Formats: sequence, structure tokens, C-alpha cells
Amino acid sequence: MSQNHDWMQRDLAVLWHPCTQMKDHERLPVIPIRRGEGVWLEDFDGKRYLDAVSSWWVNVFGHANPRINQRIKDQVDQLEHVILAGFSHQPVVELSERLVRLTPAGLDRVFYADNGSSCIEVALKMSYHYWLNVGRPEKKRFVTLSNSYHGETVAAMSVGDVALFTETYKSLLLDTLKVPSPDCYFRPEGMCWEEHSRAMFAHMERTLAEHHHEVAAVIVEPLIQGAGGMRMYHPVYLKLLREACDRYGVHLIHDEIAVGFGRTGTMFACEQAGIRPDFLCLSKALTGGYLPLAACLTTDTIYQAFYAEYDTLRAFLHSHSYTGNPLACAAALATLDIFEEDKVIEANRALALRMAEATAHLADHPHVAEVRQTGMALAIEMVQDKPSKSAYPWQERRGLAVYQHGLSRGALLRPLGSVVYFLPPYVITPEQIDFLAEVASEGIDLATRKHVSVAVNRDLHPNHRDPG
Ligand SMILES: *Cc1c(COP(=O)(O)O)cnc(C)c1O
Repeated sequence: MSQNHDWMQRDLAVLWHPCTQMKDHERLPVIPIRRGEGVWLEDFDGKRYLDAVSSWWVNVFGHANPRINQRIKDQVDQLEHVILAGFSHQPVVELSERLVRLTPAGLDRVFYADNGSSCIEVALKMSYHYWLNVGRPEKKRFVTLSNSYHGETVAAMSVGDVALFTETYKSLLLDTLKVPSPDCYFRPEGMCWEEHSRAMFAHMERTLAEHHHEVAAVIVEPLIQGAGGMRMYHPVYLKLLREACDRYGVHLIHDEIAVGFGRTGTMFACEQAGIRPDFLCLSKALTGGYLPLAACLTTDTIYQAFYAEYDTLRAFLHSHSYTGNPLACAAALATLDIFEEDKVIEANRALALRMAEATAHLADHPHVAEVRQTGMALAIEMVQDKPSKSAYPWQERRGLAVYQHGLSRGALLRPLGSVVYFLPPYVITPEQIDFLAEVASEGIDLATRKHVSVAVNRDLHPNHRDPG
């Protein structure tokens, strides 16, 4: 009997998987992974998959990276965890010093959480609480962009706008102010990204002019709206937003959980706009994709509004059990070492160029509306009708057909709806990029045929290797 099959059955008997309609697994496999190495994941039957999505956008230097492994092994023999209230440890101090040094000047304080959504909660609570502490309790609303995503906990969902994740829960959510996104996908023909993003700022300006007195903060995913379909916009929007937030006395929260650590071509996306947000949320690639950890960086101005005698009750009494976990911090330190020692940001330019070259032909595909790219993120949007960019009905699950084809060819390409994208670990080679582009092209051809069958692909059926 295939070992994959065995693990799959045991899994399906007891697990409830994230972001999954479990009934899909009656016909789609759950792929049990035995080991990873570099960009490759290997299942229990020895089949390999190239991890084109960095295992949900977290991995940057490959699976089982020897340098990160060693750092964690060294740390685990020293200290696995300690309470971070009243106590401290070497990895968390060193990591904080380095994050302060790496991020734009003025972000001088680091507060830790243990996942991205919690980090967003920290930023939202801190912003609201700051205004409370300075005597502005009426500033308690948040401004968000349409099609944004900031995580799955209730407040994080409230500032998000991807209907698939939030619609069901909308009666639970905070009341936010939603502004049309500067996303350039629907820009008028002939208009460049910069012009379009600049023009879209008028909506934000109007909302802030009208509501600033009751607004605590604006929260954005800088440059790339990830879960919303890898939609992209120009840095000029962030510059205009920074100016407006200063003018109106509103905080700016940058959620760089997905885009931080080189995804947009610079270490942090905010560098491309030359600005400093009031809160910078980091997670995902922070630990190289090894362990859950998140950091919310903020300014001394924010910090000082909480710094007072205990009985003023101004302290930020927020905590998570695994705040600043030493193993996770050690993984993060090893990750930052690699960025520095290998000059990764510079080296990535050649890879980004290769991604563009390898997929350029897809722009002419009759069912591809756009191939777009920002740094190390490249997205290909499939549409039913190219001239009008009208989307495929979501029920047809065209992206799933690409996913299935990818698996059969040994590539983990997990689309977002009809958007196929590459967000690979930076240890990918030019030849592996070409392979991904080839698999994606084939998958898109298959998925955009008139009557796509998302039913059983024999290669993938759980019982395929063991029909009895
Ligand atoms: C993934 C993500 C989050 C949530 O992080 P989790 O660790 O999954 O909770 C928040 N914001 C953005 C932009 C993300 O991509």
C-alpha cells in the first residue's frame, strides 16, 4: 500500500484543515509531506513538488536550510522558551536591535506576537489605546482599503475586505471605513500605475477629510494586496497617504506580514515610498518560514503615551503565551544573517527578471488579462473575457484546475481564485523558474478550455495508487 494513501486516510480521520472545504478531499488528495529540501517538498511516496508559494508565503531560504537548522539546534539546548513579562533573553534582544536597525528610522520599539493576525490586533489596539491615553477617546475607527486582507481573527477580519473570508462573519465585525483600493488592475487603458494610484488617492483624501476626528488609523498592505489576488499598486500612494495621515493626525499601519523581507524587491515595501509608518507589522518570512513569530514595530511617540506610573492604568496589557519565543527569534536571527551575508536583495533582481521573462508570453494568452509583478511576486490573472476583464464565475474553480495540473507535474502552485502566482523561496534557480512558468502555462491552457473538468484527476485521486 502507498504510504501517502495511508497517511492521507489517517489525516482525514482526525484533522480539520485550514481554509478548506473538507468535503473537497473526497476527490482531492491531502498530500502528506515527509521531508523538505530547498525549494522541494517530498511526499511519502517519493514524489517531489516545487514550492512556488513558499508554503503560504513564509519560506524564503528553502526547506531544511542548514544555516537556520543549526541556529535552532544551538538555541534549543540553551533555552526553548521563557515568559517575556519580567524576563528577557539573548535572541529577543538581538532580534529587536536588528529589526530597529533594519527598518526605517524612527521605528524604535518592538512588541512581539506569535502570528500575523495577532500582530494586527496589537497594532489596532495600540493605536486606539494611544488616542485614549492622550485624551482622544473618540478616535476609534479604522480606515481600510477595499479588497484588503489582514488576517483571520475578528478585529483583523474587520479591517479586511476579501468577501470569501469575511462575508459570513460580518455581523461580528467592527464598523470600519472602506476606501476604494489603488489596485492598478482596473486602471483605464493607457494609464500608468503611478497615475492611477495617484488618482485613486482622492477617495482616501475625502474620507480622511470627513472622518479624521473619529479615525485612529489607516491600515494598508503596502504595494501588494496579497490574499485579495496579488493585486498591485504604485508606491506614490503610500507617500500621499503618509502626508495625509500627518496632516489629519491619523496613524498609518503598514501590514508587511506578506510583503516584508524582500518580496516586493526591497527589504520592506515602505522603503520604495521613502516613508515610515507609525506601526509596521511583520511576520511570515521573519523566521525564514520556520516558526510562528510576529513583530509590531512602532515609534517612541506611541511608546511614551503608555509610559507612566502604574496607577494611571495606561500600560499596554496585551500578551500571548509564546510572545518572543527564543527558538523563533533564533530562526529569525539566522534568516537576517542570510539576507546580509548573501546580499539577497541584490541577488533577487536577476531572479525577478527571470520570472518576468519566463512568463512574458502569457500576456498574449486569450484568457489572461494581466501578468503583473512587483519584485519577487508575480501574478497571472485568468479571465473569461479578455477585453472586458470579466472574471470566471467563482463556482467554476478554474484556479483549482491549475493547482491540480501543477501537482501532477511536481509543482505546488496554489492559485488565489483565478490568479496564478509565483512567490517562491529565494533559493530558487533560474531553471526552476522556467519550469514553473512552463507548468503554469500548461495549467492555464487546460483551465481556460471551455468546459473545464475539476472532477477527478486520476493521478491525484487518493485511491489511484491503490485501486483495490
Ligand atoms: C498572512 C497575512 C496575515 C495574517 O497572518 P497569520 O500569521 O496567517 O495570522 C495578515 N496580513 C497579511 C497581509 C497576510 O498576508
